[in-house]
Amino acid sequence: MTVKFETLKAGEVLYDCHNELLGNTMCRGMSVWTIVVKSIDGNAAWVSWNGNPDRRESRHYFEQSRIRRAPPEWVNNGLGSGRRCHFCREKQDNGHSSDCRHPKAIRVRELEAKANGKAKGSTTNATP
Ligand SMILES: [Zn+2]
Repeated sequence: MTVKFETLKAGEVLYDCHNELLGNTMCRGMSVWTIVVKSIDGNAAWVSWNGNPDRRESRHYFEQSRIRRAPPEWVNNGLGSGRRCHFCREKQDNGHSSDCRHPKAIRVRELEAKANGKAKGSTTNATP
Protein backbone atom coordinates (compact mmCIF):
# COMPACT_ATOMS: atom_id res chain seq x y z
CA MET A 1 0.00 0.00 0.00
CA THR A 2 1.51 3.25 -1.07
CA VAL A 3 1.31 6.53 0.76
CA LYS A 4 -0.87 9.21 -0.84
CA PHE A 5 0.93 12.53 -0.83
CA GLU A 6 -2.32 14.31 0.04
CA THR A 7 -2.56 12.34 3.28
CA LEU A 8 0.95 13.16 4.49
CA LYS A 9 1.20 15.15 7.70
CA ALA A 10 4.10 16.98 9.28
CA GLY A 11 5.46 14.92 12.15
CA GLU A 12 4.44 11.64 10.58
CA VAL A 13 6.91 8.77 10.43
CA LEU A 14 7.17 6.63 7.31
CA TYR A 15 9.30 3.60 6.55
CA ASP A 16 11.54 3.02 3.57
CA CYS A 17 11.55 -0.74 3.08
CA HIS A 18 14.21 -2.01 0.68
CA ASN A 19 14.36 -5.53 -0.53
CA GLU A 20 17.98 -6.15 -1.33
CA LEU A 21 20.79 -8.61 -1.67
CA LEU A 22 22.79 -8.27 1.48
CA GLY A 23 26.56 -8.05 1.45
CA ASN A 24 28.26 -10.84 -0.43
CA THR A 25 25.95 -13.51 0.91
CA MET A 26 23.47 -13.45 -1.99
CA CYS A 27 20.80 -13.57 0.69
CA ARG A 28 17.71 -11.57 0.13
CA GLY A 29 16.78 -9.46 3.06
CA MET A 30 14.99 -6.31 3.90
CA SER A 31 16.32 -3.10 5.34
CA VAL A 32 13.91 -0.73 7.01
CA TRP A 33 14.76 2.96 7.35
CA THR A 34 12.81 5.65 9.14
CA ILE A 35 11.62 8.76 7.33
CA VAL A 36 10.36 11.61 9.51
CA VAL A 37 8.15 14.09 7.68
CA LYS A 38 9.20 17.56 8.84
CA SER A 39 6.92 19.81 6.79
CA ILE A 40 4.81 19.86 3.65
CA ASP A 41 5.94 22.29 0.98
CA GLY A 42 3.55 22.46 -1.97
CA ASN A 43 4.09 19.35 -4.07
CA ALA A 44 7.02 18.22 -1.96
CA ALA A 45 7.87 17.57 1.66
CA TRP A 46 10.92 18.07 3.84
CA VAL A 47 11.99 14.81 5.36
CA SER A 48 14.76 13.42 7.50
CA TRP A 49 15.78 10.00 6.24
CA ASN A 50 17.28 7.70 8.88
CA GLY A 51 18.19 10.72 11.03
CA ASN A 52 20.07 12.49 8.22
CA PRO A 53 19.78 16.25 7.58
CA ASP A 54 16.42 17.34 6.15
CA ARG A 55 15.95 17.07 2.42
CA ARG A 56 13.13 17.91 0.06
CA GLU A 57 11.37 15.06 -1.70
CA SER A 58 8.73 15.42 -4.40
CA ARG A 59 5.35 13.76 -4.16
CA HIS A 60 6.51 10.94 -6.47
CA TYR A 61 9.03 9.89 -3.85
CA PHE A 62 6.24 9.04 -1.43
CA GLU A 63 4.30 7.11 -4.04
CA GLN A 64 7.02 4.47 -4.47
CA SER A 65 5.94 1.06 -3.26
CA ARG A 66 8.85 0.83 -0.81
CA ILE A 67 7.63 3.84 1.16
CA ARG A 68 5.13 2.65 3.71
CA ARG A 69 3.28 3.84 6.77
CA ALA A 70 4.32 0.72 8.64
CA PRO A 71 7.06 -1.79 7.97
CA PRO A 72 6.08 -5.43 7.43
CA GLU A 73 5.21 -7.10 10.71
CA TRP A 74 8.15 -9.49 10.37
CA VAL A 75 11.34 -8.51 8.60
CA ASN A 76 14.00 -10.87 7.37
CA ASN A 77 17.22 -8.88 7.72
CA GLY A 78 19.15 -11.58 5.88
CA LEU A 79 21.52 -12.22 8.78
CA GLY A 80 20.22 -15.72 9.28
CA SER A 81 18.50 -14.84 12.52
CA GLY A 82 15.03 -15.38 11.12
CA ARG A 83 12.31 -12.83 10.78
CA ARG A 84 12.13 -10.17 13.43
CA CYS A 85 9.97 -7.20 14.31
CA HIS A 86 11.45 -3.84 13.25
CA PHE A 87 10.32 -2.22 16.51
CA CYS A 88 10.73 -4.69 19.38
CA ARG A 89 13.35 -6.88 17.61
CA GLU A 90 11.57 -10.01 18.82
CA LYS A 91 11.65 -13.06 16.60
CA GLN A 92 8.49 -14.04 14.81
CA ASP A 93 8.44 -17.31 16.79
CA ASN A 94 8.37 -15.39 20.08
CA GLY A 95 5.84 -12.79 19.08
CA HIS A 96 5.96 -9.08 19.87
CA SER A 97 7.08 -7.67 23.19
CA SER A 98 4.28 -6.38 25.41
CA ASP A 99 5.13 -2.76 24.62
CA CYS A 100 5.87 -3.18 20.90
CA ARG A 101 4.69 -0.22 18.81
CA HIS A 102 4.13 -2.02 15.54
CA PRO A 103 0.58 -1.11 14.44
CA LYS A 104 -0.33 -4.81 14.25
CA ALA A 105 0.99 -5.51 17.75
CA ILE A 106 -0.92 -2.49 19.08
CA ARG A 107 -4.08 -3.69 17.35
CA VAL A 108 -3.75 -7.17 18.83
CA ARG A 109 -3.28 -5.68 22.32
CA GLU A 110 -6.38 -3.53 21.84
CA LEU A 111 -8.42 -6.56 20.81
CA GLU A 112 -7.10 -8.56 23.76
CA ALA A 113 -7.89 -5.75 26.18
CA LYS A 114 -11.40 -5.60 24.77
CA ALA A 115 -11.84 -9.35 25.05
CA ASN A 116 -10.55 -9.30 28.64
CA GLY A 117 -12.86 -6.44 29.49
CA LYS A 118 -15.82 -8.37 28.12
CA ALA A 119 -14.84 -11.56 29.91
CA LYS A 120 -14.54 -9.61 33.17
CA GLY A 121 -17.91 -8.01 32.60
CA SER A 122 -19.67 -11.30 32.01
CA THR A 123 -18.05 -12.84 35.11
CA THR A 124 -19.33 -9.94 37.18
CA ASN A 125 -22.79 -10.40 35.73
CA ALA A 126 -22.76 -14.10 36.48
CA THR A 127 -21.85 -13.55 40.16
CA PRO A 128 -24.94 -13.51 42.34
ZN1 LIG B 1 7.24 -6.08 17.70
